[in-house]
Amino acid sequence: MKNTDTLSTAPVTIQDILLLGPGPSNSYPGVLDAIAQPTLGHLDPDFIKIMDEIKTLLQYVYQTDSQHTYVVSGPGSLGMETCFVNLIEPGDKIIMCRNGFFGNRMYENAVRFGAEIISVEAAWGQAIQASAVAEAIARHPDAKFLSIVQAETSTGVRNDVQAICALAKQAGLITIVDAVTSLGAIPLKVTEWGIDAIYSCSQKGLGAVPGMSPVTFSEAAFDKVKSRKTPVVSWYQDITVYDAYWNAEKRPYHHTAPAHQYYALLAALRHIKGLGLEKIWTEQEAVHEYFAEQMLRRNWNFFVAQEDRLPQLNTMLIPQGINDAEGRTFLRQNFQIEVGAGLGEMAGKLWRIGIMGANVKTEAVDRLLNAIDSIPK
Ligand SMILES: *Cc1c(COP(=O)(O)O)cnc(C)c1O
Repeated sequence: MKNTDTLSTAPVTIQDILLLGPGPSNSYPGVLDAIAQPTLGHLDPDFIKIMDEIKTLLQYVYQTDSQHTYVVSGPGSLGMETCFVNLIEPGDKIIMCRNGFFGNRMYENAVRFGAEIISVEAAWGQAIQASAVAEAIARHPDAKFLSIVQAETSTGVRNDVQAICALAKQAGLITIVDAVTSLGAIPLKVTEWGIDAIYSCSQKGLGAVPGMSPVTFSEAAFDKVKSRKTPVVSWYQDITVYDAYWNAEKRPYHHTAPAHQYYALLAALRHIKGLGLEKIWTEQEAVHEYFAEQMLRRNWNFFVAQEDRLPQLNTMLIPQGINDAEGRTFLRQNFQIEVGAGLGEMAGKLWRIGIMGANVKTEAVDRLLNAIDSIPK
């Protein structure tokens, strides 16, 4: 057995880091205090009230009135898997938009659940073309689903979910959307845009803490799950079972919900409701414009064309004279700032700078600019 004599028994203290990577972001006011509240049982009447309020607020941030709106206890990746494991039956044909790391992760999910996959691809850094999607839909009238990532965090590209879901709905497809980096940051209107299944996370645009994934299913998507020929292979993620925990008159036990994380999410959602979504979207654009102007002045150029950029996730080409890993370590050690490295093909070439949640303000940008200006050349 390992000798524990030298280990500390002091209280846990964590340094406050300005989180400007691809997520997590810093929390909205009230979130960390909410976590320090007493534990409630997962069937306690007060806890059920918290769940009901979370549901109402999630319907607001997702812009949906669907009753099949829940939090799955796990990260955004669990929300992604929840959508695929419930909806896809072996042999189902799905048109998958893929232009980065997370589109590819959706693909990995669909493969595991036995889908027949038609890929519509675009190069890293480019948006999915609606015309390419229209062509794929025309060539595959037997397709049942379409999937797309709204904010491709690996590249900083915004896909036009509204236009592409409109095409999919005309063809009667069930749409699956990744909103992990877009919810609470850029416009997203689930019902109006014809989105049937969508998932996000708690730690990026929503400004809570990691570990929860808000999901919502339309009536059509829920009916598809109920009419499966084979049971959902995951019991824990089966939304027809999960639904009762969120909606039944008398709530049955499903799993022990991580109460404190729910408190954190509730605090963040109340904050968002207080600010108003439209105001958040406008502020996000304004802070991005300030950031862009300042970075361009410093010879940091964008990887993505202006019209396809995400204001909340900026992929910036590392200029000559700055070393990728050393530069990021310098920011972390000397300025307590985290920025993200490039992923996949873009590793070493760019930094991913997230301005999300509580960090959507010029003060956060100024702290970063000051730190970048101090990097030794
Ligand atoms: C972060 C992210 C995920 C995964 O979320 P986790 O909470 O890390 O599991 C999925 N999709 C996109 C687009 C993301 O940015």
